[in-house]
Formats: sequence, C-alpha cells, structure tokens
Amino acid sequence: MASHTASQRYLSTRGGSYGLSFEEVVLKGLASDSGLFIPEVIPSLPPNWQNDWLKLSFEELAFQVFSLFISPAEIPPAALKDIIHRSYSTFRVLSITPTVTLDGDKRIHLLELFHGPTFAFKDVALQFLGNLFEFFLVRRNEGKTGKDREHLTVIGATSGDTGSAAIYGLRSKKDVSVFIMYPTGKVSSVQEAQMTTVPDENVHCLSVDGTFDDCQDFVKALFADPLINTTQRLAAVNSINWARILAQITYYFASYFSLVHSGTFNPSTDHIRFVVPTGNFGDILAGYIAKRMGLPVSKLIIATNENDILHRFWRTGAYEKQDVHGSAAEGGLVEDGVKAHVEGVKETLSPAMDILVSSNFERLLWFIAYDVYGFGVGNVQEGRHQAALKVKEWQTSLKTQGGFKVEKKVLDAATVDFASERVSDEETLAAISDVYRWPNTPGSKGYILDPHSAIGVTAALRSAKATPGVHNVALSTAHPAKFSHAVELALKEEKEFQFKDILPPQFVGLEDLPRRITHAQKSGGLEGVRKIIMDEVEKELTGAHP
Ligand SMILES: *Cc1c(COP(=O)(O)O)cnc(C)c1O
Repeated sequence: MASHTASQRYLSTRGGSYGLSFEEVVLKGLASDSGLFIPEVIPSLPPNWQNDWLKLSFEELAFQVFSLFISPAEIPPAALKDIIHRSYSTFRVLSITPTVTLDGDKRIHLLELFHGPTFAFKDVALQFLGNLFEFFLVRRNEGKTGKDREHLTVIGATSGDTGSAAIYGLRSKKDVSVFIMYPTGKVSSVQEAQMTTVPDENVHCLSVDGTFDDCQDFVKALFADPLINTTQRLAAVNSINWARILAQITYYFASYFSLVHSGTFNPSTDHIRFVVPTGNFGDILAGYIAKRMGLPVSKLIIATNENDILHRFWRTGAYEKQDVHGSAAEGGLVEDGVKAHVEGVKETLSPAMDILVSSNFERLLWFIAYDVYGFGVGNVQEGRHQAALKVKEWQTSLKTQGGFKVEKKVLDAATVDFASERVSDEETLAAISDVYRWPNTPGSKGYILDPHSAIGVTAALRSAKATPGVHNVALSTAHPAKFSHAVELALKEEKEFQFKDILPPQFVGLEDLPRRITHAQKSGGLEGVRKIIMDEVEKELTGAHP
C-alpha cells in the first residue's frame, strides 16, 4: 500500500485528465473538461487499523487518513501535521466532532459537526482548505518578492452559510484574497454579520443590489473573463473541491472509534449506519469513500428534504430535475449550501439542502459506472475510459433533457451502499419538538436539533424501526442557533424553551460590531465588479489598505 499512496494521482470524472497531483486538483477545483477530480485509486486501510487507530486523537486520525491520499513528496508529513493542527485548533471542543447518544435503547447517535468557528459542518472542510491554499502558495512563493509572488483570488457567491465558512477558512491567509458576493438585504442578519464583521484585510464582502442569481452570474462571468484571468489566479469555494471531501472522511472514522472506545458499539457483532442530511452530496460522499477504504459501515442513508432528486433516483433510477412548473427547470449547478432562486427548487426550513441537482453526485456516478461498465473490460485504462463515457452521457442528458435514467444494474449497484429517505418540513418540525422532549438526552435541558440535523434524526428513526438493533449515527450539520426560525417555530409551545438559552456567546453582540462592506452595482456589470476586485487586490498587495 505504501507504494501506491506514494504516487497517489487524480483523474477527472469526464476523462479529460489523468495523473494529476493533489496540489493541482486542489488549486484547480474543477477539471478543464468540467468534470470533478477523484483519486485514481481509493486506498485501503492498513492491516491493523482497527487497533492502531483506536486511540488516536481527531488530528492524528486526520493525519492517517490524509496520508493515504496525499503523497509525502507533495506535502511532507511534518507540514501536513502542522496544517491539520492549525485547521482544527479553531474548534471549540477537544474531540472536534463528538458523537453523542440520543437514545441508547434505539441506538440512535448524533455526530456533532458544528463546533467550528461558524457553527456549521462546512468548517471541518473549509478550515483545512484555507490552510492548504496558503501552504501551496507560500511554498510556490519561496524566495520571490513583489510582483513575482503568486496570489490566489478566491471568489464566491452566497445567500447563506457557505460565505461565512469560506471567510473564516481564508481570513488572514498569506497570498490569498477572498471575495464573497451576496444579495443586499437578502441574507439573514446573523449571516450578514458573521461575514462582514471579520476584520482581516484579505476578506472582501461585496453586497450586490440584486438577487443571489445576479451574484452567481457575476462569479461565472469573472471565471470566463479573459481580462481578470490574465492578472489573477482565480479559485472557487464550492463543494466540488476534492480537499473538502477528503477533510470530511476523518469524522466517519472518529465517530466509529468513539462508539467502539466507549463500549457502545461492539465491532465484532454490531452493525452501523450513517445517516446524512444531504444537499450537494459532499458530506455523504466522504462516508462512501470511508466505506470503500474499509470502514465497516453497513449502509449510508441519504436524508433529503422536499428537494428530493436523490431520493427519487434511489426509488426509480431516474435522476430528474423537479418539474414543479410543468416544464423541465432551467439552471445549472447551484451553489452549495444555499437556496438558489431557480425554478424547481423549493424553499424549505432546511435551506442548506435546497438544491435542484447535487454536484458531487457525479463523483459517485463515476465509481458506480466503473464498477458496472468499466470493471473487467481488459485493463484499468479502458475501464476508466468506459466510466468517463457513461458519466459524460448522463451529464449531457441532464443538461439538455433535464435528467437521465440508468439501467437496472446501475441502480442495483447504488443500493448496495446507499438507501434514501425524504423528510418534509412538517416532519422536520415534529422531530425538533419530539427530540426536545426525549428523556436522557445529553445536556441539562432537552436536546435541540437544528432543522438539517432533524432531517437526519427522522431518517435514522425510520432506519432503526426497519432494522432494529443496528446503530444509526445521524450527522448533525449545524448549531440550532443558526436556524432560529425553524427552531422557534417547532418549540413555540414549549414553556421552558427560550431562544437565548441556546445562543452561543460568539453570536451575542455580533450585529453591533463594525462591518466592512463594499457595495457593487448590478448596473455596473462585469466591468464594475472586475474593477472592485482588481483594485482591492492591488491595495492589498501594495499594503495601501488603511
Ligand atoms: C451544506 C450543508 C448540508 C448539505 O451538505 P452536502 O455536503 O451539500 O450534502 C447540510 N446541512 C448544512 C447545515 C449545510 O450547511
């Protein structure tokens, strides 16, 4: 195994590139053929992993996992350890992603992923990605001064959580600037405060007098703009970056070991399922990789809200955009973690899962296509070629027809590792208020779920009912204070409940802090936004900031 990890290489799901390094795929994000990067080989676990890894800390575990995907020649072990340490020292609990038991009898557990700086699970990945960007740039810039230094300009659009998680991941990073566009007056006040009160000079919040779609259009136009691309190296912050998936693999192992270590789970007799509130399929894809590496997970359960394209796929084998207006909905990939104002997307109480299509699903499709169409066709190269052809065929149909249908053998392969559940808004609210009343949950008062986590718990309860005895770990993706609207709606009858009891101290007074906002006019078009970005980067590079 040491031999193949030493030469870990990456390919594009659409067959346009092979043999890329980890650094190339992290800095590029999306492949030139519009495919997504995946490792050429999913590494398997070392022979004694169950003993050797049992007592490792989260950081040590991350190091073991990442080392299987990143060649030591690319990032020396000491540097990788340092990156990991800096990424997770911003978390508020020692175990980083604790697993708590919600109901011992029903064997329902919760993997809490919201202890990072912005109180949502995206921090686990974006804290790491920010440090990686910085590491690569600083290394490329060794011995260089002034204009010779490479600089990364990260741009993104947000109407929700991704913006703040990206900002907290990239703040103060050397040789990196970050520009986040959001629609003026259309993000919640906590979200706007989280983004705009960050004082670091490399952070730029652009308030655009338009909609989220206008912001997204600006991002697309900038990536396609020859002018800005001659002077800046642009990078994106969305869930398609491979490093984000990689970072999320660790907590599946951490959760498994936590249950084994506490004696809750007996690895020689018990079975475990992970239940994942899913939007763009990044979080659960990390679980799939962990399973393929050899973590003994009996099933991964996709929990969707009413935007249920994935659930419908697992029911029928048809992957089709929702057709709520009587015609195939328009619009490509939406930004991860936010509600896009595209036809066919339903606004729900769990906005971070409001998607039309799931961008990371393409990665799973490649692995399945390889197993079904590419395995045993002669040689590995030909097999990969067959997988890429299938992926391209499906993606073309998604783009031109609004969907595609797979053969039965593909769906059969998909149901080996996955099952799915759909959870409505009504059921989400019911779960928040039910769990609040459960006895013996962690904490002194009732346990309060955020709406995304409530979807996971609802699906976990269904799974527990269908297969009693199995342990179900639901992933908890956000702190309830981030989604106060749904929580207050669910608990309005509870006399004991007061929202201020769950408000983290970090949120208190946040809205009174000074803000740094640049206003961008939609009427100024691409030129206007381009000028803002070029001027701000120039100011940063020449140290001309006030
Ligand atoms: C992004 C997000 C999700 C969905 O995760 P995917 O990786 O896109 O499937 C779920 N819950 C919260 C709170 C999120 O921010």
